[in-house]
Amino acid sequence: MDVTPMLIGGEWRTTARGRAESVTSPYDGSVVGTVPVAGLGDVDEALAAAEAGAGLWRRTPAHERMRILLRAGELADERADEIARTISAEVGKTITEAQGEASRSGEIIRLAAFEGTQLYGHTLPLDANRGTGLDKLGFTLRQPCGVVVAISPFNYPALLVLHKLAPALAAGNAVVLKPARTTPLTAFSLAACFVDAGLPAGVLSVITGPGGELGDALVTDPRVRKISFTGSTAIGERITRMAGLKKLSLELGASCPVIVMPDADLELAASAVAAGGYVNAGQVCISVQRVIAHPAISGDFLDALVPKVKAIKVGDPSSPDTDMGTLISSAEAERVRQCIVAAADAGARVLAGGERDGSMVAPSVVADVDPVSPFAQDELFGPAVAVSAASDWQSAVTQANGTAYGLAAGIFTSDVAGAVRAIREIDAGSIHINWTPLWRADLMPYGGLKGSGIGKEGPRWAVEEMTEVKTVVFHGRPWQLDVHHLMEEGGEAGS
Ligand code: NAP
Repeated sequence: MDVTPMLIGGEWRTTARGRAESVTSPYDGSVVGTVPVAGLGDVDEALAAAEAGAGLWRRTPAHERMRILLRAGELADERADEIARTISAEVGKTITEAQGEASRSGEIIRLAAFEGTQLYGHTLPLDANRGTGLDKLGFTLRQPCGVVVAISPFNYPALLVLHKLAPALAAGNAVVLKPARTTPLTAFSLAACFVDAGLPAGVLSVITGPGGELGDALVTDPRVRKISFTGSTAIGERITRMAGLKKLSLELGASCPVIVMPDADLELAASAVAAGGYVNAGQVCISVQRVIAHPAISGDFLDALVPKVKAIKVGDPSSPDTDMGTLISSAEAERVRQCIVAAADAGARVLAGGERDGSMVAPSVVADVDPVSPFAQDELFGPAVAVSAASDWQSAVTQANGTAYGLAAGIFTSDVAGAVRAIREIDAGSIHINWTPLWRADLMPYGGLKGSGIGKEGPRWAVEEMTEVKTVVFHGRPWQLDVHHLMEEGGEAGS
């Protein structure tokens, strides 16, 4: 199979050392494509091109950047079907889910393109500072960071790439993107939209290969000012230790809770959890991992949930009849299966699923899970929901907060006062009332607290994080207004 070239300095090319590797379907092992395995020389070339590209792009007016990005958005719309097929093939997610993901691409680019034209500053009331007169004028100016390194995970290879590329480019930065090794082809398709729209050479490079080697080189390089990373908490922590003096945005792992109170609409809660725990085979950072149900309704909730979960049709991701596809690999599927077995060995009840077939894990419901056990505490990233009990708001909130993570949470209740209290006390980056955490509008601020990361994505917030503020002061000559004289004059004129 031909090698799909990577993008360095405006040129689509293979690596100088000539190495390439296959991207395979997690469903049937078929080869989806072949991509270059970049080396450290390629990293250096991409960063050198980005340094030059950043100089050019920051001097390009915002209206021109916006024009190019809007064209890229149009191209992403036109190519959405092809992008969806690539996503489905390399991730193993269903074609229906992949179409949903691909169809958001153009919109994310357009939202970011607009935000790139909104780099407003502030005027500073310097004379309010004691000892400062009226002779000075101050204001702030926002400018791009320069070279941004973007590193993305496998699970949403279009959305999570675009939530970095589009705001970074809109704000006037150059970007070097390192997509996940398992899902590079979607990243190339998206990069082609920007290049074909007229993005100047060097402003965007995409290199593929092993995250450990390329990642370390990218995040430690002094030419880089900003790192935008989405992935596991372990790698995020490693980047934090290694990066040195750089701006960091980190979108990391999670174990998202849903609280179901006795006054909840149980049918709604069960339907929402039966979706929110199993979309993309549970490989979503905002997937429902833990349900904390009040003992008065937990039996009825499980009675409503289990048949819905058992009805999820698992199979060929390319079929429109399939509800849930594969995990990213059979090794990951086996890891998830073993987590379920360990929970059962520790006394939990497996009410649905638990079995593995290749890279597919049957959608699972595990009840009576100990909230401090690894099954609740560690990120599962698979199609299983752990159900445990809490008998009042306080213990439910304590349990929701009782992991190292804080990405998102859901609450099902009709008790407004309880919901307000929970909203204030749950430490999570987003909180959904009467829905699960698995919900995102692309324009909203999105990002976790605690071990789930630092910073926010969403075009407005990402543009802010991908720019820096300068303070500018004009120094006039000191002068003094004769205020009394002016007041007297005003008095005479008014009489
Ligand atoms: P991962 O293993 O942490 O990999 C993420 C990216 O980091 C990949 O591109 C990977 O490259 C690269 N990488 C590996 N080693 C690196 C290093 N030493 N320095 C820099 N980069 C390195 O995560 P994943 O398995 O792809 O994705 C799943 C994780 O992402 C889960 O923890 C999930 O919660 C998290 N996630 C978070 C969010 C959020 O918004 N909070 C969204 C989606 C996913 P290779 O692929 O080549 O190893």
